[in-house]
Formats: sequence, C-alpha cells, structure tokens
Amino acid sequence: MPKLGYKYAMARFSIPNLLIRCLIATAIAGGAAHAQTVGSLDPKPLPPLAIKADDPKAPANQLFGRKTAPAPLEARVIGYYTSGCLAGAKAMPINGKTWQVMRLSRNRNWGHPELIAMLERLADKAPSVGWNGLLIGDLAQPRGGPMLTGHWSHQVGLDADIWLTPMPNRELSRKEREEMFATNVVAEDWMDVNPKIWSPAHIAILKAAATDKDVERVLINPAIKKALCRDVKGDRSWLKKMRPVFGHNYHFHVRIGCPKGDTACKPQPAGPAEEGCGKDLDWWFGKEARSIKPGKREPLKMSALPAACKQVLLAE
Ligand SMILES: [Zn+2]
Repeated sequence: MPKLGYKYAMARFSIPNLLIRCLIATAIAGGAAHAQTVGSLDPKPLPPLAIKADDPKAPANQLFGRKTAPAPLEARVIGYYTSGCLAGAKAMPINGKTWQVMRLSRNRNWGHPELIAMLERLADKAPSVGWNGLLIGDLAQPRGGPMLTGHWSHQVGLDADIWLTPMPNRELSRKEREEMFATNVVAEDWMDVNPKIWSPAHIAILKAAATDKDVERVLINPAIKKALCRDVKGDRSWLKKMRPVFGHNYHFHVRIGCPKGDTACKPQPAGPAEEGCGKDLDWWFGKEARSIKPGKREPLKMSALPAACKQVLLAE
C-alpha cells in the first residue's frame, strides 16, 4: 500500500487506523476476480488445535473460528467492531417470510439480539418499499471474534451483510444458498452504478436500512454513493450514513451502534454531519484511491482482544 495514499486517506476521513486499513484490504481483496466465494454443502470440521485460549500469542481467528455454538451467557458485546467478541449471540433464523439466510455452511448467522431485531424489522419493511425480501449474508460467528476468512469487522455481532439482490419469490435450496451469486450493481469501470441494474428499489432498501433507529452506518461502494448523491430527491438526511468503501458492490453492510448499557462495547466515532457528496467522494474515483493495493495483515492475537473475550471463548 503506498504510504502517501494511506496517510492521505487517514487525514481525509479521520477513520481510525485499523478500520481504514482493514476496509481497504478487505475490500480490494474482495473486489478482485474472486469477489464472491461459494460455500459447501458438506463443510468439513476444522482439525483440532494445539493452542490454548490463554496463550496471549494464540491467533484469535483459529480459536473463534472453531466455535460452533454461542457462549451460553447473557448477550453482551465486548470490544470493537474490528477487535472484539460476542457473548450470548442469537441466530438469525434461516427463513422468514421476507428473508432467507445465504451460505449456511459458514455458520455466520449469529448476532447480538438487537442486530437480529433490526434485520427482522428491515425485512418486514422491504416489500413495502418495492424490495421483495432480504438475502442475508454474513453476520458474525457464534462467539464473534476474528474470522479465518473474509471480514476484518463483523467481530462483535453488530454488523450484517445484505445482498444487493432481492429475495426471490420461493424458498432457495441449500445448494442455491451455497452457490448462487449476488448481483453486482456497479459498472465494469467502477465509476458508476450499472444503469441496467440500478433501480429505485435499490435506493429504497438502502434508505430503509439507513433510517432504521439502530443503524449507525451503511457501507457501500463509492459508485453506489455517487448514484445516491445524484438520484436521491426529497429527504437526503440519511445520505450521511451511507459510507463509501471499496468492494460492497454485491452487498451492503449494515452496522448498528453499541446496545444501551453494554459498557464493554466500544462505540465507533460519530459520523460526518454532511451528506458526503463532495470532494471526499471524488477522491475514491481518483488516481490515488485506485492505486491503493491490499496490504498484508497479520491475524489478531488473543492479546489484541479485550481480556473478557477469553471467557467468551471458554464458556461451556
Ligand atoms: Zn460486511
């Protein structure tokens, strides 16, 4: 990653170091040829590990990635979106009237009960804004924490990915849920949305997400933000919550704030007060942003997570 571009991005958006680095790395990696990964109908369990949770040097993703059930504790968010874990997670049911969960083999349909409630609310609302229902991608692992593949955030059960493809009018098979691809709404040159796909219903579902009472931000590709800045008429107050990041051209990422009273949950910095349709947005389409290459990341060690995450890992 060129140093100048990185510093520039930091200064311009004042997003915490870790977050911007991860967003850029994840997004570019995700935006390349293999933008979407398929799942398996026959996922193999991971081989047992010799390392222990109380070894501070232990790679946290190896430990959290092996947990198949939530910590049987009261629901509690511990840490930050990009370095934390989740106790008492609730599963998003794989089928609802207006939603279906995708890539079931990943076992990442776990979240804080407030995240699950938000998704159900949004799914309920979807048909009234012209979106048949939600296809839901990754939330968090059963105990949250860093993952062996994919996201850098999604660690505390307050993040969810929603496909930019409306739910079809039928129940998808297990195979379809593992192998179907989401729709890319961005044009091939990444400079704008694809006009053949982009529709008022896309705007409406993004608005419904951004205006939910618990949602703090919605992450989308810069080309989608550009389209919103151009196409949204009337109430534009929600545009400030729509945050451009690399990738996010097949799905949008919804993030809620820390649940009330969860004192171990570290809130994210307040977002900008402006729409974000000016120069900051232009930057994403310039040479500098385009030249940013994904950085190599070392997996987080247990010592990088709040100490309470060890109890979450060990709870029986
Ligand atoms: Zn996401």
